[in-house]
Amino acid sequence: MTLTSRRNFIKSAGLLTAATALVNPFDLFAQTKRRSALKGGSKKMVLSFRPYDAQMRHVFTIANSSRTTTPIVLTEIEWDGMVGYGEAAMPPYLGETQNSVMDFLKKVDLSKFSSPFQIQDIMAYVDSLSINNTAAKAAVDIALHDLVGKIMEQPWWKIWGFNPETTPNTSFTVGLDTEEVVVEKTKEAAPYKVIKVKLGRDEKTDKMMVNTIRSVTDTIICVDANQGWKDKHYALDMIHWLNERNVNMIEQPMPKLLLDESAWVTENSPLPVIADEACQRLTDIPKLKGAYHGINIKLMKCTGMREAREMISLAKALHMRLMIGCMTETSCAISAAAQLAPETEWADLDGNLLISNDVFKGMLIVDGKITLNELPGIGIAKL
Ligand code: MG
Repeated sequence: MTLTSRRNFIKSAGLLTAATALVNPFDLFAQTKRRSALKGGSKKMVLSFRPYDAQMRHVFTIANSSRTTTPIVLTEIEWDGMVGYGEAAMPPYLGETQNSVMDFLKKVDLSKFSSPFQIQDIMAYVDSLSINNTAAKAAVDIALHDLVGKIMEQPWWKIWGFNPETTPNTSFTVGLDTEEVVVEKTKEAAPYKVIKVKLGRDEKTDKMMVNTIRSVTDTIICVDANQGWKDKHYALDMIHWLNERNVNMIEQPMPKLLLDESAWVTENSPLPVIADEACQRLTDIPKLKGAYHGINIKLMKCTGMREAREMISLAKALHMRLMIGCMTETSCAISAAAQLAPETEWADLDGNLLISNDVFKGMLIVDGKITLNELPGIGIAKL
């Protein structure tokens, strides 16, 4: 029997398992092509998107602003009958809006790429379309990773070889508010092992927030000052005060441009000092070495999972500590970020818990801990 006639025989007999032995078992793309031949879907990647308003469970207040909704754009990339889901979430301070994201996405032409496996080339092209628009770029990157993981039938934490046991506990954010509401929100945070508190207004308000939480619980607190402390001596005094109250880290105590002052605070701080606003992308990391103990990676700041994975490697090479964070997002972007959580020391992935109209179910918090599932791609299913 010739090879061709043997293939025809196997095909007609429907012996797909036997057919697998005829191709290189390590050639995932060949296997995918074989699966697609059976499905008959379009081989062109099609990107689609729609605006979505995430409703906040509580009015959300940080140092400079308050809001009740967060604008989101949901994306899908379809290829060969399979769909990957993505999302751009835009808190006002990032400078992106639903319109700016959709204007950007209209420019993205994926038809020039023959396969979704070309993640590096595709994302380099997407990144080249504008200087900013990091959330819009992340919406493409996340959908692409979801799609590729689904084609490979594996979740990304597994593709990357991460250990799902090493995920940290996530913090649960208690925003600035009146004492009564803070007591209420702190009680709501009872299932979580870490409470994140947003400080950075004035000394009286900041201490009220921490004292009010401490009147309800001894749970570990991580503090985010969102650049709110303008003087390095004041920042250090606050950090010492917080260090006596079971606080385990401090995020962005001072304005992001005050690098020398931040370095002085970091050098003298009894607590780890982490860069958030100061660290958006991979190229920001080298200059932050010495000015902060570590960085907070967020997919919406850094254009998505591809660059976030690279940021982890670079930060580790520079002996910097790692946190993974989020905006107010649905379970789509949260579950995408969770794929990277095994490599981080701290996680702040509660964005989906702060909204009342989630679109997906995905990564779960079990006993306070980020718990990854076996679903392929970014690990989500539509609600
Ligand atoms: Mg922050």
